[in-house]
Amino acid sequence: MVRVENLTFGYGAKGFRLRVPDLLLEKGERVAIVGPSGSGKTTLLNLIAGILTPEAGRVSVAGTEVSQLSDTQRRRFRASQIGFVFQDFALLDYLPARQNILYPYRITPALTLDAAARARADKLAAACGIGDKLDRHPGALSQGEQQRVAICRALVTQPNLILSDEATGNLDPDSKARILDLLFEQAEEAGATVLAVTHDHELLPRFERVLDFAQFREGAPL
Ligand code: ADP
Ligand code: MG
Repeated sequence: MVRVENLTFGYGAKGFRLRVPDLLLEKGERVAIVGPSGSGKTTLLNLIAGILTPEAGRVSVAGTEVSQLSDTQRRRFRASQIGFVFQDFALLDYLPARQNILYPYRITPALTLDAAARARADKLAAACGIGDKLDRHPGALSQGEQQRVAICRALVTQPNLILSDEATGNLDPDSKARILDLLFEQAEEAGATVLAVTHDHELLPRFERVLDFAQFREGAPL
């Protein structure tokens, strides 16, 4: 589902550099990423999603080399194939929660906003415990509630790849476990691959594989 080969990336000539020689995620696999703050975890997710472009090397998702697509193609590919739970949620303040969840349908011609999609949004929201808050704007939701809106938005399109950046960071322990249940359940239903950055070490046994990010700093031996 994801293949990264000889990837290098840097923020400018003197900024942080990342080097990933080889990373392969199978379809349906659940992989966690751990590593210190600033080690490039978010950067890697952005490279896989095609939000950042590698200097060298290749990233392909579901057989498509993301960096070969035009900007428009890449945005559409991302919206139809990838569910991304951003570390900072990236919700739109001017839209109520329900419209935030359904946002991928607004920006992707390949996705049809039909009754099934609306029903899925409502069902996901209910399962996350925000079913009664869908008419509120993000500014009137707590951090944890905003996080759940972001999770619903990532899952509603039934993506093939779920990228999750500390998606359980703002939740209490019970909610963490419940949200991860939901994420895995949705992934399993769609046969989706999950790549999740997490600081919650108690959740790690639930993943099939854990990548420690310290190894990917440029220059570090594998
Ligand atoms: P993590 O998610 O592991 O905490 P990040 O991938 O966010 O780490 O960041 C890795 C490094 O890259 C950090 O040193 C950070 O300061 C730097 N960095 C992140 N985004 C940018 C950016 N847009 N421009 C320049 N440097 C950045
Ligand atoms: Mg990060």
